[in-house]
Amino acid sequence: MRILVVEDDARLARQLAQALQAAGHAVDGAADGEEAKFLGETEPYDAVVLDLGLPQRDGLSVLRAWRAEGVAVPVLVLTARDGWHEKVEGIDAGADDYLAKPFRMEELLARLRAILRRAGGRASDLLRFGPVEIDLRRNQVSREGVPVPLTAHEYKVLAYLAHRAGHTVSRSELTEHVYAQDFDRDSNTLEVFVGRLRRKLGRDLIVTERGLGYRLDPHAFD
Ligand code: CA
Repeated sequence: MRILVVEDDARLARQLAQALQAAGHAVDGAADGEEAKFLGETEPYDAVVLDLGLPQRDGLSVLRAWRAEGVAVPVLVLTARDGWHEKVEGIDAGADDYLAKPFRMEELLARLRAILRRAGGRASDLLRFGPVEIDLRRNQVSREGVPVPLTAHEYKVLAYLAHRAGHTVSRSELTEHVYAQDFDRDSNTLEVFVGRLRRKLGRDLIVTERGLGYRLDPHAFD
């Protein structure tokens, strides 16, 4: 999944990026409200972590602008401690959840998983496709109960296809959701990752829809 982190505190922004990358996400960053507004309007993020106190344009105004333009990305707002009015304003402005600073990174990751679950219409972070089990909480994949080691990119591709299970995902969509903005993108390598995933997890799990893209078939093993 691809996440935008909007935070002007450079140290916290770095910690957030590292934690989200370790959780298997591609991460872009913005350090002020104008950059955040632009990125949110132009890039298809799966979720945004949005600090409210930002230079140039505050987070609430960014969020209101996105919602007014129909940008429906799930947003987790970071508020000041005891800032109950910020929480209310944030939720009214279209935030999906909030977290007061300072916070534990584990809690931020759990809240983010929850909003991604809701966005994907999933009841759980433990996904089963026949013998294949994908644990989005621990970033672990197993087949017939045996752990299957995946590279970071293989995991990102699989996790996004699983997030959209049953839907055909075009190569451009997949590229946009597994690579960060500054990454040297090459959609040909996606084929390589899909080929490796098939070898490791079974031929039938990921279907190629010619000319359209890939689809993780929830009933591949029925
Ligand atoms: Ca701030």
